[in-house]
Amino acid sequence: MLTNMSEFFLRTLREDPADAEVASHKLMVRAGYIRRVAPGIYTWLPLGLKVLRNIEQIVREEMAAIGAQEVHFPALLPREPYEKTNRWEEYGPNLFRLKDRKDGDYLLAPTHEEMFTLAVKDMYSSYKDLPLSLYQIQTKYRDEARPRAGVIRGREFVMKDSYSFDIDDEGLAKSYELHRKAYQRVFERLGLPFVIVAAQSGAMGGSRSEEFLYPNPMGEDTFVRSPGGYAANAEAVVTPVPDPVDYSNTPAKELRHTPDAKTIAALVDLSNELYPREDRPWEAADMLKSYVVTLTHPDGAREVVNIGIPGDREVDEKRLEAAFAPAEVEQATPEDLAKHPELVAGYLGPEVVGPNAPKRTVDEDGNPTGSVRFFVDPRVVEGTAWIAGGNKADYHVYNLVMGRDFTADGTVEVAEVKAGDPAPDGSGPLELARGIEVAHIFQLGRKYAKALDLTVLDQNGKSQVVTMGSYGLGVSRVVAAMVESHHDDLGLSWPMVVAPFHLQVLAAGKGDQIADTAADISQAVSDAGFDVLYDDRPKVSAGVKFADAELLGMPYVLVVGRGLKNGVVELRDRRGGVSKEIPVEEAKQIIIAELEANRGSAK
Ligand code: ATP
Ligand code: MG
Repeated sequence: MLTNMSEFFLRTLREDPADAEVASHKLMVRAGYIRRVAPGIYTWLPLGLKVLRNIEQIVREEMAAIGAQEVHFPALLPREPYEKTNRWEEYGPNLFRLKDRKDGDYLLAPTHEEMFTLAVKDMYSSYKDLPLSLYQIQTKYRDEARPRAGVIRGREFVMKDSYSFDIDDEGLAKSYELHRKAYQRVFERLGLPFVIVAAQSGAMGGSRSEEFLYPNPMGEDTFVRSPGGYAANAEAVVTPVPDPVDYSNTPAKELRHTPDAKTIAALVDLSNELYPREDRPWEAADMLKSYVVTLTHPDGAREVVNIGIPGDREVDEKRLEAAFAPAEVEQATPEDLAKHPELVAGYLGPEVVGPNAPKRTVDEDGNPTGSVRFFVDPRVVEGTAWIAGGNKADYHVYNLVMGRDFTADGTVEVAEVKAGDPAPDGSGPLELARGIEVAHIFQLGRKYAKALDLTVLDQNGKSQVVTMGSYGLGVSRVVAAMVESHHDDLGLSWPMVVAPFHLQVLAAGKGDQIADTAADISQAVSDAGFDVLYDDRPKVSAGVKFADAELLGMPYVLVVGRGLKNGVVELRDRRGGVSKEIPVEEAKQIIIAELEANRGSAK
């Protein structure tokens, strides 16, 4: 295909868009790949659409290779199936809900488990029909709280989602493994670096789940790795639980005056000054910090809960969200707190919360109803002694022992994971890094099949609930991830495998000879089966053409310019390779041979 730039629907921009912080966002807008319509909603312009389609093509090939079949469901869906799986509510404010003219409830699908499950239920009824893998490449809608970084977190985005259907666990494990391998091949073919990390299944339910992350400091996901090969999303790290501590010699708890100790650091200093320990100084890890949050449950009910974590750690927002999903978590508001007079701001301690605390919480009529639920970090095991709030201004309680002086409703993984923490499988200290989630695979199990009654008859004629997997790959996000991994200060720099054009030809100078030669070579390379963008713009300076070529990022750039009078043209390798002058008579063969040798290359 030959495209003349003078007729191509493209305008490059000199300036970065004001709202852009990350390289891919800036470059994709400046180079005319995408345009913003609203927060998290983008138009794909010809260049961007070509890359998107090229990536889709690779995904399709790898899906076909594992025997998955392509279908296409609507994005606009009725409420009922999502009602049956509880997701109409559970999905929370991220779900775009709308009404039709008859006042019927609809949604714009954020993911399609329900539809796939129902389609298989309608059409299949025997174990002989399984295993089955279906997929689609489709637009998804999520009203993300913080759309950001261009198409990396959109409110409308393109996902490839597949679903596997098996009669038993062994089959599911196999389907899962096939998808995992297919995804590895997709990212290898794209030349996108990735790590596979254990993930939290979150609101999706199910058992095994892994994410494919592209490691990049601007990513929103923190993941951990150990020298022994453990890798997990920080959200999914399970804290190794220490053994219970013998507290038979721990002194009785004691309420002590701690004026002006508003922070953990101040409390540590003050404790060492006024109430020093004999064995060692007090440390932040001796303090039990209290967090009060409000959960909004899927049915709309609000509940204040208290969380206790060691004082040397902060709460990790994503772990917090994951820990209480599907409930939404926010900081408790003054109105929430007004209902719980026992929670003394700044001095809250575990003795007034949790299962054994006195019932002091009041209901609407002012009657005592119970106590605030109290969750603790897994390190707060029986027998551990803490300094905690004394539930009275300017007082803290010392030697407060878990299991003796207070109890909890359960443990919760909300504390941050720190570099150097032990890996849960004993494989060494963890190291932390950040990444962008490009795909997520789940063994869903029978949750959806059960909710929607998808069963088949087994060999003995017995009805069995089908077990499912779901496998999402963020196609539009991958476009941006590819830009993150393939650019420099001047612009984009595509590998051959997804480049919108393989070659950009510049007529860099005046005169018919230059234009004719450039057009002739462009045509020949196009005829040989490559996509060529010919910058034939008549009134544009060579300097602007060079800058645009660098910004647009085609892997090869041919400059037909001043050298022509000496019989040479220049072939540049945008991907960091060398430029070379080549004789104009041999230019077509040399270029075609070079492109041929690199067809499909991820470099
Ligand atoms: P995230 O944690 O980034 O919100 P998720 O866990 O909600 O992602 P899934 O529901 O597993 O994501 O969706 C499958 C894939 O779709 C993700 O791995 C990601 O690549 C992509 N994706 C999810 N949300 C978005 C979005 N808002 N914009 C672009 N791509 C997205
Ligand atoms: Mg999400």
